[in-house]
Amino acid sequence: MTTRIEHVSSPAAAGGGENHAWIIGDDDEVIVIDPGPDAASVLDAVGDREVLAVICTHGHAEHIAAAVEVAERDEAPVALHPKDRVLWREAHPDDDAEIEMADGGVFEVADVRLEVMHTPGHTAGSVCLYCEELGVVFTGHALLATGPGPHDREFPDFAGQLNAIGENLLTLPSDTRVLPGQGAETTIATAEKKFDSWFAAGPVVADPDED
Ligand SMILES: [Zn+2]
Repeated sequence: MTTRIEHVSSPAAAGGGENHAWIIGDDDEVIVIDPGPDAASVLDAVGDREVLAVICTHGHAEHIAAAVEVAERDEAPVALHPKDRVLWREAHPDDDAEIEMADGGVFEVADVRLEVMHTPGHTAGSVCLYCEELGVVFTGHALLATGPGPHDREFPDFAGQLNAIGENLLTLPSDTRVLPGQGAETTIATAEKKFDSWFAAGPVVADPDED
């Protein structure tokens, strides 16, 4: 296995902690998940490797502001779930995402596959990307180490988000690493243990750096 995972972090606008752009690939090609606000720092980390696609886990601007600029260098497509198209337009009024992601869709990069899981709640078009070969799931804001990810300290659909976590994420192998779009990483096993307490606590906003 030559495929590796790198990340570029930037200060999160709301809720503290850092946002993460994830770069998955080998020495020749990469996929970028949630490039964040600064195309130059992401392209720096990519170097001369080819960007095959830029995947947006959801349409919030602080995660996707640089999506078009990062994709443009290698004429790569941007991927977004169509239910976040309205959010996308706030950041990119003149550009559309070329790939409409759907549950079960697959991206291939280097020698691994990223499977799209639709996990609505944080936004209607939130997705996670599961890589079985690397034992990781990229969760955007759908699931943070602290629980369901809020937006602007609120939960647009807390019940839906918990449902998506329970049905789509907690069914993954328990040793799967959870690499979120913000704050610390966790595992499916840890999330499983905390799930009932998140359910009981309801929509409270926690510090994303706290485990
Ligand atoms: Zn968000």
